[in-house]
Amino acid sequence: MIHKLMKTFIFLFMASNSFAAKSDQAKDENEGQVSAVLKIIERPIIFNKEREKLSLEYLQQRYAMVQNKATISPKMVVVHWTAIDSLEDSFRVFNTPRLPSSREKISSASALNVSAHFLIDRDGSIYQLLPETTFARHVIGLNHSAIGIENVGNGSDLPLTKEQLEANINLIKQLATRHPIEYVIGHFEYKQFIGHSLWKEKDPGYLTQKTDPGLSFIKKVRSGLSALQLKLLPLRESNH
Ligand SMILES: [Zn+2]
Repeated sequence: MIHKLMKTFIFLFMASNSFAAKSDQAKDENEGQVSAVLKIIERPIIFNKEREKLSLEYLQQRYAMVQNKATISPKMVVVHWTAIDSLEDSFRVFNTPRLPSSREKISSASALNVSAHFLIDRDGSIYQLLPETTFARHVIGLNHSAIGIENVGNGSDLPLTKEQLEANINLIKQLATRHPIEYVIGHFEYKQFIGHSLWKEKDPGYLTQKTDPGLSFIKKVRSGLSALQLKLLPLRESNH
């Protein structure tokens, strides 16, 4: 009898172990390789009462969106380059809640400083500056639904790296598991959304010329995301 019980116990133990192993495997399969290798370093920029107030004013004045909290509903990701040479200098620029006086052109639209949700260094290290659903000013017309990813680099002497490309793709894959991401665009493509239901900027004259992060980079990002079945940009002729 004892022998039989022991046997049953051993069987149950083995069965429960193998169930655990199976469920771990299923978990890994569901999450894919992304979560296993993707390291995100928390490096929050200042989001104090002043930044929240300026963000709420931005939403109300530019988009006619009246909210109690400066939150967004992510439906797209906008990829940028910083045009600033280092991670530390980029972080410093985004950190302060108010725009510096040097940025006259955009300060008439709002005193809220620019920022982004993520900042990717040249070696592919990913830093999270803001929660994914917190408002950030990084793209005219679309900030209410756009997660911003900044990459340290520019279009001349500091071209974006292979490590950054891979980090963008992995990060966006992970974001798409949490948010209904429909579009992934380069900052330079934002004007294609003028007239689209996501476009909220009320001043048709408030537009700036952008080239970041370059056509070849965003094309490579999108081709790495083919499994997400993203929507084509509103003006199809620009979907190379
Ligand atoms: Zn940009």
